Amino acid sequence: MFDDVLKRLGISDVNSGVYADGWIDKPGGEELVSLNPATGEPIARVLTAARDDYERVVESAQQAFQDWRMTPAPVRGEFVRRLGMALREDKRDLGLLVTLEMGKIQSEGEGEVQEMIDMCDFSVGLSRQLYGLTIASERPQHRMMEQWHPLGVVGILSAFNFPVAVWAWNAAVAAVCGDASIWKPSPQTPLTAIAVQHIVDRVTTEMKIPPICGLAVGAGIETGQWMADDARLPLISATGSCEMGRAISPIVAQRLGRCLLELGGNNAIILTESADLDLALRGVLFAAVGTSGQRCTSLRRLIVHESIADTFVERLANAYHSVNIGDPWEEGVLMGPLANERAAETMMQAVETIREQGGEIVCGGHRTDRPGYFVEPTIVRATADMPIVATETFAPILYVLTYKTLDEAIEIQNSVAQGLSSAIFTDRMQEAERFLSPIGSDCGIANVNIGTSGAEIGGAFGGEKETGGGREAGSDSWKAYMRRQTCTVNWGDSLPLAQGVEFDVGS
Ligand code: NAD
Repeated sequence: MFDDVLKRLGISDVNSGVYADGWIDKPGGEELVSLNPATGEPIARVLTAARDDYERVVESAQQAFQDWRMTPAPVRGEFVRRLGMALREDKRDLGLLVTLEMGKIQSEGEGEVQEMIDMCDFSVGLSRQLYGLTIASERPQHRMMEQWHPLGVVGILSAFNFPVAVWAWNAAVAAVCGDASIWKPSPQTPLTAIAVQHIVDRVTTEMKIPPICGLAVGAGIETGQWMADDARLPLISATGSCEMGRAISPIVAQRLGRCLLELGGNNAIILTESADLDLALRGVLFAAVGTSGQRCTSLRRLIVHESIADTFVERLANAYHSVNIGDPWEEGVLMGPLANERAAETMMQAVETIREQGGEIVCGGHRTDRPGYFVEPTIVRATADMPIVATETFAPILYVLTYKTLDEAIEIQNSVAQGLSSAIFTDRMQEAERFLSPIGSDCGIANVNIGTSGAEIGGAFGGEKETGGGREAGSDSWKAYMRRQTCTVNWGDSLPLAQGVEFDVGS
């Protein structure tokens, strides 16, 4: 039924998952089979990178970087502009492939491709900026400035849940910054990466530019480990679980490389007495159930004022019952499957643990009786001291906690190890400002009257604490992809030293 879409995107029954200065015909790594999570059926097979294939990818990217770093930035921007145009042409097909391989509903699949397009548009503008500073020098007839140079080959490790957008956050910005990049996607979603690489290949070939974007699909974590340990990659931008971040960052640190970490979250909404509850209901529902709870920004904890908790939970449970769960490509479906069997089992284990720790399941808590990896969205009445509430279960489980004072709510919100996304629903300006102040939310993202998920690309995206501290996408995130150089120019005919130091042998 989706054969035409796959064909248009260049996906065959068996695909090479490795691209250096072109596709490597028969890479020697283990074979991967990509499954449709809504049926458990195979979509296609992928040949992954062996070590020598990986070497070819790195060498080709290094070579491409030699030319690319000297290509004027606005010309580099033209590549990203053309990439954005090509993505527009393939938006529907690529969005559908995201749906087929990852399981998010079609509107979210296409939304993810739109996010890639937005990143391309943003990066085109960026290619005429990349501003440095001029700084007042303390010495006469001296000029000080900062300038930004390309960094090198950037290693991109991505997670399954945003199989294409995260690549664009990194690769589009890296490209205008004058870097080459190598992408290791999640083994769960190799086909979407291959389809993107076909689009990139089309653009680079048409424009006759060097192969600045390489691809090395790996069957497990080994390729990621090679990248972490590879001193030829000055920056590793890694998106995934906190466990992954904990595993790779010491390896990168050992070689004194740079890491940009975008790791797990444990996101919360504070729902105050003054909130517009209709607005809050919609915000909570999308944030908790959207993408089947598989966004890094998905809502995990609803911290609700005790006076409105019972009524709100009842309304929310009714809304949960009316969520249409099914094949994510069908119109009207709001929730597709989880990524794989392991994800569904992990959720069922979490439900067991919740019961053991004294949580009350308000609704959901089961797998649904059909092929694929479907589960029911689940609401739990819980307390903040239940250990499971402090962890990220990557599934649609929402813990409802209650509070009496705003101070207490903020303390609960900040009490977890992760620090990605947070929100407050309130109609009181004082509460909103308190939440956004230095004694409010400790997260990288803090919203008012908007849910925790669904960020725009214009802002810098990322989180604090165990989320890893990285920032990607908009604002000045580009600085992570460049090296800063401070330059002082003396245009006078004497040599005054800084801080008034005297150092002269006399003449
Ligand atoms: P994951 O950590 O299992 O895998 C992410 C990537 O890292 C994959 O490419 C994987 O192959 C690789 N990897 C995993 N362990 C590795 C290791 N020890 N060494 C080298 N490479 C390794 O994550 P996932 O299950 O694909 O995605 C879900 C997780 O990602 C959630 O925790 C979610 O919150 C997080 N996430 C965070 C963001 C963000 O921007 N903060 C965005 C998306 C997903």
